Amino acid sequence: MPINNQPADSQLATVGQLIQHATHAVAFTGAGISTDSGIPDLAGIAAILNADKTFHGDVFHLLDPSFATRDPATFYRLYRQTFFHPDARPNAAHHFLAQLATTGHLAGVVTMNIDYLHQLAGSQNVAEYWGDLRQNHCIHCQQAYDWDTIAQQPIPHCHTCGQLVLPDFVQRNLATYPAAIQKGHQLLAQADLVLIIGTQRNVTSFPKNVPKIVVNSDQPRIGDKQTIYIQTKAASFFEKLALYL
Ligand SMILES: [Zn+2]
Repeated sequence: MPINNQPADSQLATVGQLIQHATHAVAFTGAGISTDSGIPDLAGIAAILNADKTFHGDVFHLLDPSFATRDPATFYRLYRQTFFHPDARPNAAHHFLAQLATTGHLAGVVTMNIDYLHQLAGSQNVAEYWGDLRQNHCIHCQQAYDWDTIAQQPIPHCHTCGQLVLPDFVQRNLATYPAAIQKGHQLLAQADLVLIIGTQRNVTSFPKNVPKIVVNSDQPRIGDKQTIYIQTKAASFFEKLALYL
């Protein structure tokens, strides 16, 4: 299948047919799938941090566990502007993928996001490489806290020992979860179609000889011949695509 840059609308029928013929499609999603749910991507997060008058650093500085422990007030103030949006709701793209699983076309979702929106949309088989916002622990006694505790307390502290509670992905220094990575690799290895949504990850890092559909608002990149590039926002594209299935 040739790489093409036709307007997204003219590709809807082609993409719809590919999906309908798939029995083990796998979606790989990044921040771009959630921007329409009001969650900033890395560029948006960088803009928020740059605009802040008191914080001088990048996203890695913000997420450094030693910084978050030393200055929890600044960490949590900026965390709530950037990553932590427990009131965000899934958009048409998340809902489309959840629906695709119920009709037997989609085997699972592999995501680099921590926003939990795939599960809120109803997706059940989700490999989260970095976990999600619902996973938080006390830095001292390791008691677990769900995101309601983080939402309720400006600077959340442990009910048991009084120490600071931090998100797991921060405490883990952004380490991925090996079990999730393994699950993701297994899903992708068996895929008969890969939907790569809202991420700049290069298609060459995905299994060869499998049709791929890339939906991203960035400029299309050169990939292999089995890749269809759709340069658009994910939510609007999948909202239209749902009418073709
Ligand atoms: Zn504790």
